[in-house]
Amino acid sequence: MWMAKRVVVVGAGAGGLIAAGRAAELGADVVLLEKMDQAGKKILVSGKSRCNITNAAPLAEFLTHYGRNGRFLMNAYHRFFRDELLALLARHRVGTQTERGGRIFPVSGEAGDVRDALLRYCTNNGVDVRYRSEVSEIVVQNGRVKGIRLANASRVTTGTVILATGGASWPDTGSTGQGYLMAQSLGHTIKPLRPALVPLTCVERAMAKRLQGVSLRNVRCTFFTENAKGKVREMRIPYPVPQTGEMLFTHFGVSGPLILTASGAVVDVLRRGQTVSLSIDLKPGMDEAAIHSRLQREFEEHSHQRLATLLRGWVPASLAEVLADLSGIEADRHVHRIRAEEREGVVRLLKDFRWSISGSLPLVAGMVTAGGVALNEVDPLTFASKKVDGLYIVGELLDLAADTGGYNLQAAFTTGYLAGSAAIGDV
Ligand SMILES: Cc1cc2nc3c(=O)[nH]c(=O)nc-3n(C[C@H](O)[C@H](O)[C@H](O)COP(=O)(O)OP(=O)(O)OC[C@H]3O[C@@H](n4cnc5c(N)ncnc54)[C@H](O)[C@@H]3O)c2cc1C
Repeated sequence: MWMAKRVVVVGAGAGGLIAAGRAAELGADVVLLEKMDQAGKKILVSGKSRCNITNAAPLAEFLTHYGRNGRFLMNAYHRFFRDELLALLARHRVGTQTERGGRIFPVSGEAGDVRDALLRYCTNNGVDVRYRSEVSEIVVQNGRVKGIRLANASRVTTGTVILATGGASWPDTGSTGQGYLMAQSLGHTIKPLRPALVPLTCVERAMAKRLQGVSLRNVRCTFFTENAKGKVREMRIPYPVPQTGEMLFTHFGVSGPLILTASGAVVDVLRRGQTVSLSIDLKPGMDEAAIHSRLQREFEEHSHQRLATLLRGWVPASLAEVLADLSGIEADRHVHRIRAEEREGVVRLLKDFRWSISGSLPLVAGMVTAGGVALNEVDPLTFASKKVDGLYIVGELLDLAADTGGYNLQAAFTTGYLAGSAAIGDV
């Protein structure tokens, strides 16, 4: 009697759902094991619950968003990329639209629709989806997968496992980093895990507290590093970052889009023992001379104002107070009594508002986990492990992390889909 090949997929997130649906579509007998009581909890919170599925950027640019490791995905993206993903979603009743920055979202604006479509892809093809099923071990004998063991000690026998347990960030969504331990115990190298897309902490805690909640639009953020010899230079960020945009002060430091995007690179530099400072240009559209002459004019027109009051026309009120304090000019001095060199100091503060970065929030608070299963130990087209026959590793578990814009989900979808195909021999 003919028996369908059994494939066990561990983790019903973005990568696991599409892997399971694909393997089942190709005729496999698929069991999808998810430890939470529902699938795709991280999809549900993605893109502020709107799910930024992917991005309209051309392939060459798309790959740069993963930094140095982006090349690993090139051949996979030639097989299954954005168009194929969007077509699959369309077949499961999810229309999409492109927004600012090429970001692609479901038309409904509901991340739940993406999750439900992927779940339909699974159930329509007969996947056996089992919730509250936490996998604790992949059983391997003589270098071959033999099955998996669940936390409740029961076993499922199979020669093929797709490991899709996600990263170690946002553990409430179910991704608690167990997959790294399972892969490591089977001989895989795990590149150091660090948070990416994560808020940064600053040395100037008291100042941050005063500014907590202040959000700035149209500012420029530049990071500087200083090595052990005291040499300061602008920090190189190995992926594209916007020149200007939004940022936010928190009680511990800085956050918001500009900061989150750069944070992965900042965390890496701090790990190398270098110090990092952040320069905020509060008026990127004006050069120093233009600011200088406008300030001079305003000092004359509003000669009896305090500096902090006058600066409210430039920046939010609480920031105006902080800048006035930093200028060293006494709070009760009227602006007409501010000397030219003191005015220059104010100009410098507006163009180069400096912070010392002390670190970041922990791994669990990053939107993605950087690091993970070493890419040279996984086939770049099938995501088959080179250490264990019958094992595939997909999604955020791999040493791939990108900035915001839909790149992380596309990587999970592509690696999952291709592993689902390969698991049933369709390479
Ligand atoms: C707040 C937030 C917003 C985001 N927004 C976006 C966005 O808009 N666009 C984008 O591209 N990326 C976004 N990301 C990143 C993206 O969601 C992830 O990179 C992606 O979901 C990773 O997919 P995955 O399948 O590898 O893992 P996950 O989606 O994390 O799925 C892993 C699954 O495995 C299950 N699991 C874990 N361990 C076990 C076990 N032992 N046994 C059984 N099951 C297990 C988990 O419960 C989970 O369901 C966001 C992330 C966060 C935190």
